[in-house]
Amino acid sequence: MPSATLRNHLLDRLSADDRKAILAASTPFEFELGHVFSEAGDAVAHVHFVLSGIVSAVAGMEDGRTVETFMIGREGVTTPAAIHVPVRTYSRLVGQSTGETRRIDVGRLRAICDERPGLRTMIALYSSGLQGELEQSGACNALHRSDQRFAKWLLRCHDRLDGDTLHLTQEYLASLLGSQRTTVNEAAQGLQKAGAISYSRGKVTILDRAALERAACECYTAGLRDTLEIPKQL
Ligand SMILES: [Zn+2]
Repeated sequence: MPSATLRNHLLDRLSADDRKAILAASTPFEFELGHVFSEAGDAVAHVHFVLSGIVSAVAGMEDGRTVETFMIGREGVTTPAAIHVPVRTYSRLVGQSTGETRRIDVGRLRAICDERPGLRTMIALYSSGLQGELEQSGACNALHRSDQRFAKWLLRCHDRLDGDTLHLTQEYLASLLGSQRTTVNEAAQGLQKAGAISYSRGKVTILDRAALERAACECYTAGLRDTLEIPKQL
């Protein structure tokens, strides 16, 4: 699938030489909904440049509850800190949809980054943007209502998936948002009433994107700024 190789936002912004080096050293990888890329605490062996679909970082608590802490789509790469030193994943990385990536051995990627400062800079900028998004999320979770966060989350999914319909179970949504099922249900009903989405039995269809943007908190735009405004290299 040659067209898929250039759909990653970071790869798109690399110089032609750096992009060629990554494409030569990586292999295409397809994942399914629920595919576990790594468990929390695993040493990172591979890094994935996401071409399509969503990879979620999901943190688990001792009582079994889980919550999504961030998502990676075609704007990013898994475990960007691994380009500097060997690292372990803090959360479980799991496919939230079907999708494709370019998969690269982490040692190989580190060696290429040593030779290509432009590539290292690009991944470090993404890593810094992700850190900013996480800091914003900390504030968001403390200060913003669950319906605003639900709208933000739907917009983020919509940005990363093709089409207007998302297939999600209520249990899954609740666990991703760290809310009770009833809270998610109320948030979805509110957005449906406003004409932003239609929602039934885990199927969410975005009907009015502008209305959804109005319903979301400011953190949606902040997240875009952090991870998407990375300059293109020549
Ligand atoms: Zn927020």
